Amino acid sequence: MIKTDLSRMKQPLIPLATLIGRELRNEKTEQPFVKYGQAGLAKKGEDYFLIKTDCQRVPGDSSTLFSVFAIFDGHNGISAAIFAKESILNNVMSAIPQGISRDEWLQALPRALVVSFLKTDMEFQQQGETSGTTATFVIIDGWTVTVASVGDSRCILDTQGGAVSLLTVDHRLEENVEERERVTASGGEVGRLNVFGGNEVGPLRCWPGGLCLSRSIGDTDVGEYIVPIPHVKQVKLSNAGGRLIIASDGIWDALSSDMAAKSCRGVSAELAAKLVVKEALRSRGLKDDTTCLVVDIIPSDYPLSPMTTTLRKKHNMLSSLLFGKKSQNTTNKGTNKLSAIGVVEELFEEGSAMLTERLGKDVPSNMNSGIFRCAVCLADQPSSDGLSANTDHIITPVSKPWEGPFLCTNCQKKKDAMEGKRS
Ligand SMILES: [Zn+2]
Repeated sequence: MIKTDLSRMKQPLIPLATLIGRELRNEKTEQPFVKYGQAGLAKKGEDYFLIKTDCQRVPGDSSTLFSVFAIFDGHNGISAAIFAKESILNNVMSAIPQGISRDEWLQALPRALVVSFLKTDMEFQQQGETSGTTATFVIIDGWTVTVASVGDSRCILDTQGGAVSLLTVDHRLEENVEERERVTASGGEVGRLNVFGGNEVGPLRCWPGGLCLSRSIGDTDVGEYIVPIPHVKQVKLSNAGGRLIIASDGIWDALSSDMAAKSCRGVSAELAAKLVVKEALRSRGLKDDTTCLVVDIIPSDYPLSPMTTTLRKKHNMLSSLLFGKKSQNTTNKGTNKLSAIGVVEELFEEGSAMLTERLGKDVPSNMNSGIFRCAVCLADQPSSDGLSANTDHIITPVSKPWEGPFLCTNCQKKKDAMEGKRS
């Protein structure tokens, strides 16, 4: 009794009805814990990773914390992987307007990630190096997970309900028909390596260059239709949480998503990363750099009454019905409240390689001054020198409503090159 009274003094009791109400409305008032582990083995030493759990959306405000986890699987050298590791987060932050709310920032992330990947690639090109890298970049803010990726380093989500889903798309010419068609339409040639008097070996590659990926950062010596435009997916976990497994192809060439998830269930993230690597090595041996990050997004200790705990367990059982679209959840509201809880909400997904589709239409804030800010490199340029991404090299007359986004001459050139339009 005394103990109960003490805890009541420390923390004002929330009425049970309010707690249940919050659960039913799927309100996540509490922030989850993020626990992680990392394991890997090097064969060529071209895998890099990034773990940063102390990022702040508003610098100096500790209530705006978010985490970043990323993998960069380099090829033909390590410079692109290192450059991407050091640049992407900064470029994301500078692409997002200041003074916006948390909801606005979450909504701005997919576009900012596209801008950041492209800007990082263009900056790397200026260094005159030819190496390239995959990039799988995960931002965790509360229960919302945003994943941007180019290449074939996967990120999977394992929820407590037992369903495993892929949050990335493999940008491999061998396995991705859409990407093959895009590369071919933009002037690339796709085929296998010819050796020993015409025998074709290995996976489908793009020529010139011989890269088997259709998207990457770097790779200045291959065609510009090998683009750095990421596939982006944003989901909101239920308050049952979930586990992310982010890994380079050293893991995924040996294990399916299901196998990786099952190989490490029920253990801590730290041990889980080691188990996944061990399982991959057991089945295939060390053929490639192998890096694995495991990130658990789990409910924090919250003073729950026995009744809400029971409710939560029921929700978990229902979470096998995964990935309801947001609209479906809205439809469910009121009619079947429980089914909306425990469902991973799919907030955003877009994978188009067309820059215009990814930037959307926005109006530059300083359009009255006659100076426009490039949507990609953020450089200011007088409007007469640049081009709208939505016009075919015709400058929009000042009298007409502006059709953004605006690109500077340099970024417009890059856009044309990526679409195979460079003359
Ligand atoms: Zn620009």
